[in-house]
Amino acid sequence: MSRLMLGKTLERICKAVLLLCLVHFLIMMIFYLDVYTQRFDIFSRFNTRNYSKMHQYFNISKPNGTSLTFLGGEDHFVSSRKLENNLTVTKKPLPMCPDVPQGLVGRLLIEFNSLMTMEKVQRENPDVREGGKYKPSDCITKQRVAIIIPFRHREHHLKFWLHYLHPILRRQKINYGIYIINQNGEGMFNRAKLLNIGYMEVLKDAEYDCFVFSDVDLIPMDDRNLYHCYDQPRHFAIAMDKFGFRITLKGMKVSRPDSKIGKYRMIKHERDKHNEPNPQRFTKIQNTKVTMKQDGINSLKYKLVNVAKYPMYTNITVDIGTPPSRPSRG
Ligand code: UDP
Ligand code: MN
Repeated sequence: MSRLMLGKTLERICKAVLLLCLVHFLIMMIFYLDVYTQRFDIFSRFNTRNYSKMHQYFNISKPNGTSLTFLGGEDHFVSSRKLENNLTVTKKPLPMCPDVPQGLVGRLLIEFNSLMTMEKVQRENPDVREGGKYKPSDCITKQRVAIIIPFRHREHHLKFWLHYLHPILRRQKINYGIYIINQNGEGMFNRAKLLNIGYMEVLKDAEYDCFVFSDVDLIPMDDRNLYHCYDQPRHFAIAMDKFGFRITLKGMKVSRPDSKIGKYRMIKHERDKHNEPNPQRFTKIQNTKVTMKQDGINSLKYKLVNVAKYPMYTNITVDIGTPPSRPSRG
């Protein structure tokens, strides 16, 4: 009788132990899965099937520590393929970049007193590609923006411009390229001509559907000032007007950083040599109709001297020739 009781008790104990084991196993399973989804690499090797779950868009780190980039190229999809070690990556289209980018900081502190070097700018912006190009890795942009800067002997300003603008443009989720249009020689500086040339030359380098013209000494004081093209023809008109474009833009958009007072900080400087206020400027305006055909983009005469791709920007040096002879009055 008591033996039977003992047997039953033992059986119950055994069952309890088994149940405990099962519960323990379940808890362990939950723990493993949880840890796994939280991206602890030590556990990832146990489950390679769902590997793609934890890296939605970006680099897939293989267990051996190397990293494979699936983004990039011209298609914006994470491709679906099987890797050597059987990792499956699911096809996932990138979302469109939001109209109002997240992560902007608003008002910025801009100063020009610190020591600035190109090396520092480069260190701060490791994700900018050669030639000063960048595109967001987590979303598709609607526009490809060429930022064109007329330039001569302003290396000091350029360092600050790049130092401030690259991070701003990155936060703004702009797909962009930076182009310095450098006037060769010491002839009269011609900003409008350089911008026209810039427009022509950047299209030889890459496809763009928006052009932003900026001075090298102009830094936005608020990153909500987006460096892209707006649909409203108003901005288009402003850009056209400011730079004397006489050209048909074939559906291209032009924009210029909105220079409302207080929104931009200008680096203070002396007036450059060979950039004196143009004494002919009134005569020139009067002669607009006459000179239009000669100055337009179709008859834009210049010599391409050099194109150099630096880590933070592309430099296009051009010889714009001697300034046109003084138009006779009357
Ligand atoms: N610029 C330049 N070198 C010069 C003159 C002008 O690079 O010798 C470029 C530069 O981008 C500058 C822009 O042209 O920001 C406008 O010229 P400037 O700064 O002289 O005009 P302002 O200060 O009168 O607006
Ligand atoms: Mn200036």
